[in-house]
Amino acid sequence: MGNYNNVRAIKQDGIEKKRAFLIGGGVASLAAAFYLVYDGHMDGKMITIIENLPVLGGSMDGSGDEKRGFLIRGGREMEEHYECSWDLFCHIPTIENPSRTVLEDLREVNRIDPNVAACRLMHKCGEKIERETLGLNGHHIMQLEKLILATEEELGATKIKEFFDESFFTTDMWYYWRSMFAFENWQSLVEMKRYMHRFIHHLPNLSRLRQILFSRYNQYESMILPLQKWLEEQGVNFHRNVQVTDMALDILPDSQTVIAIHLVKNGETTIVTTTKDDLIFFTCGSMTENSTLGNMSTPAGVNRGPGASWELWKKIATKGPSFGRPEVFCDHIDKTKWESFTITCTDSPMVDLLTKLTGRDPYSGKLVTGGIMTAVDSSWLLSVTCHRQPHFTNQPENAIVLWAYGLLPDNVGDHVKKKMEYCTGEELLRELLYHMGAGDLTEAIVASSTVIPCMMPYITSQFMPRIKGDRPEVVPKGSVNLAFLGQFVEIPGDCVFTVEYSVRSAMTGVYTLLNLDKQPPEVYPSQYDIRVIAKAIKSMHGESHVPGEGLIRYLLKDTSMAGLM
Ligand SMILES: Cc1cc2nc3c(=O)[nH]c(=O)nc-3n(C[C@H](O)[C@H](O)[C@H](O)COP(=O)(O)OP(=O)(O)OC[C@H]3O[C@@H](n4cnc5c(N)ncnc54)[C@H](O)[C@@H]3O)c2cc1C
Repeated sequence: MGNYNNVRAIKQDGIEKKRAFLIGGGVASLAAAFYLVYDGHMDGKMITIIENLPVLGGSMDGSGDEKRGFLIRGGREMEEHYECSWDLFCHIPTIENPSRTVLEDLREVNRIDPNVAACRLMHKCGEKIERETLGLNGHHIMQLEKLILATEEELGATKIKEFFDESFFTTDMWYYWRSMFAFENWQSLVEMKRYMHRFIHHLPNLSRLRQILFSRYNQYESMILPLQKWLEEQGVNFHRNVQVTDMALDILPDSQTVIAIHLVKNGETTIVTTTKDDLIFFTCGSMTENSTLGNMSTPAGVNRGPGASWELWKKIATKGPSFGRPEVFCDHIDKTKWESFTITCTDSPMVDLLTKLTGRDPYSGKLVTGGIMTAVDSSWLLSVTCHRQPHFTNQPENAIVLWAYGLLPDNVGDHVKKKMEYCTGEELLRELLYHMGAGDLTEAIVASSTVIPCMMPYITSQFMPRIKGDRPEVVPKGSVNLAFLGQFVEIPGDCVFTVEYSVRSAMTGVYTLLNLDKQPPEVYPSQYDIRVIAKAIKSMHGESHVPGEGLIRYLLKDTSMAGLM
């Protein structure tokens, strides 16, 4: 969608009579509520968002204070071509300065202080790896090219580890890739392929994370709260601490209509009757469902119990084949879990350690690590990041907040000989400090830190190998009033584990159910840009010549295309 088509949709007849029920209070539902008001011209009072938790924002959380310690289950790397997300946030004023939008603020922060990783990879207890190339050999490059040319149908449910040679998994490319995007070797090759296409323009920047964007504060404060405030001002209703346990559907041979929603609050069930005039949006599946927290002296453990979104999706999936197969994603906790931990350091020599590793002053208000630093020889495959400080608006001046995670939590640590789920916050920090080379600073850093561990059983469930039909369409064929949103729906060409995917699902759902003459923006087509392809191929070859490069240079010499190589 170029600017010509980016106009507000025309108001549809009968919109006044419609109600919308959004099950889930993550960014997917909040975005859908925005588009119902903005493009759908729906009165906010007719929209109800139903969330099982006491807070909105879902996976984009942020909480805490100096005393308890701060907590983010995750931090988001974003990029310029989150076309749907920036379409949304160019309309939402910031909390601090209502005359500026969230997009304007984010762009300004990143313009003044553009991201560059100071120490992307390290090993041997805090020794920086200085290489910038991807470390691929000719065979790895051929395999990557083969992956790009393959169709999703022929790859089916193939796992990444079944496609590449063993040696690929020790290349710098794979360390950059898996730690940045959080892929496990046993996960979906098709999703990795989608990432290759969708983010091909980032291939030359993997070692320095240039062009990656971060919000001013954590994304709960910088993105969710402003969006929530905008929706509140429109009169949108928020029902927190309410679980949707079932939906009744009228299933006919060629149509399905939701006719009732079952809500449970404080153990009491209410049934809301719906008609074809009502719209129901369900965020099916959640990567942060059943997260468990620990503290300095208590491990996070793992919650293997049922969760609101998976239970509801499983129930609905039994009612029609077009509603997907949730068990493909949620029934493999030991393949989908990993653990993160948020570290709050007050008057701490952590500042000295970070300055040593990055050459930057954590108190400068500018970027510190510049994205994640990954310890490639860590058994848990630990990564840690320290964003611009303060990371929370209520953070004291003498505190810094870091976020770390281990992609392989079932391995025993190198310094702390335990799996992550059994480690206290202190033990997680000690293992991290070992890999950061803290040495003599260790005890003083531990003494000045508060760590909140967070185990997420489903954090990479969206990457599990899948085939067509495992994920429902946003609006399944024949669905009269039900749309599926979030990370577990099928959207051709875009990539899961992104805010963008959830916002795109929201736009798609609203435009389709309301039958609006408007499409979401195209997924950024850098994969078809010959300049991007040329740069990507060059970066795959590192310092060696691309085959045929000399001939192409010769042929293009003194022509208008000379700059291509
Ligand atoms: C550690 C981590 C790192 C990440 N890194 C990045 C990144 O670098 N870049 C990026 O773009 N994105 C990243 N993401 C992903 C991004 O945050 C998510 O894709 C996005 O927030 C998902 O939003 P959602 O609304 O689709 O789902 P969720 O945020 O999961 O929200 C779903 C909500 O629905 C509620 N719910 C579900 N079922 C019911 C029910 N039956 N009744 C009541 N409530 C229900 C749940 O409680 C939940 O709050 C990361 C996420 C995490 C956790």
